[in-house]
Amino acid sequence: MKEEKVFNTLKENMRRPLLIVVSAPSGTGKTTLCRMLVERLENADFSVSVTSRDPRPGEVQGRDYLFVSEEEFREKIDSGGFLEWAVVHDRYYGTSKDFVRESLGRGNHVVFDIDVQGGMRIRENQPEAVLIFLLPPSMEELRRRLVGRNQDGEDEIEKRIGNSYREMRRALDYDYLVENRDLDEALEMILSIITAEKCRVR
Ligand code: ADP
Ligand code: 5GP
Repeated sequence: MKEEKVFNTLKENMRRPLLIVVSAPSGTGKTTLCRMLVERLENADFSVSVTSRDPRPGEVQGRDYLFVSEEEFREKIDSGGFLEWAVVHDRYYGTSKDFVRESLGRGNHVVFDIDVQGGMRIRENQPEAVLIFLLPPSMEELRRRLVGRNQDGEDEIEKRIGNSYREMRRALDYDYLVENRDLDEALEMILSIITAEKCRVR
């Protein structure tokens, strides 16, 4: 009986859903990769964040973000509804505790597309989380991707490039560094990290 319990505990360890945090300077490709990752993993949810920023053309409420007013965001902070939250590019962004709890309850991995402040908060609250930092191949390529994405004006792009150096300084606090030169290669690298993490004894 006792032996069976030991065996079951070990099996549970291997089946445990993971919290996978992906951070990167804006424009590196983390949203693109996180979406691909969720598609490839059988049981994973993309953590839909709450934000006070306006939706961009093509963005869908509930799929890309939960768009709320600044007032609603602050109320959720006051009621302790966030696992972490941060101000990024002058707007509020946060991870809803309920969303994460429900995903984990279904036995699903949760993939977080969040900035470095958020990554560090998740590390404090959930030390078992796996933190992956995505690097752009070069600053020239990062700029090309920001321009190509066609979402930000010139000033906004300069602000994002400026922020990216600050963000990259924090990359050494992460568990893994993955370069996003080629999307498919980066995805395979992240999948192999996850395979290894599933086998890690915690
Ligand atoms: P982030 O979420 O990091 O801000 P996005 O996922 O929005 O970045 O990607 C920024 C732009 O770069 C998008 O237009 C995306 O299609 C493009 N992109 C992402 N990864 C690559 C890659 N490996 N090679 C070329 N373009 C990429
Ligand atoms: P964007 O406005 O371009 O979608 O996102 C801006 C930044 O906010 C990105 O770095 C993105 O990863 C980050 N972000 C998105 N959701 C969250 C969140 O819930 N928490 C934190 N800390 N950052 C987030």
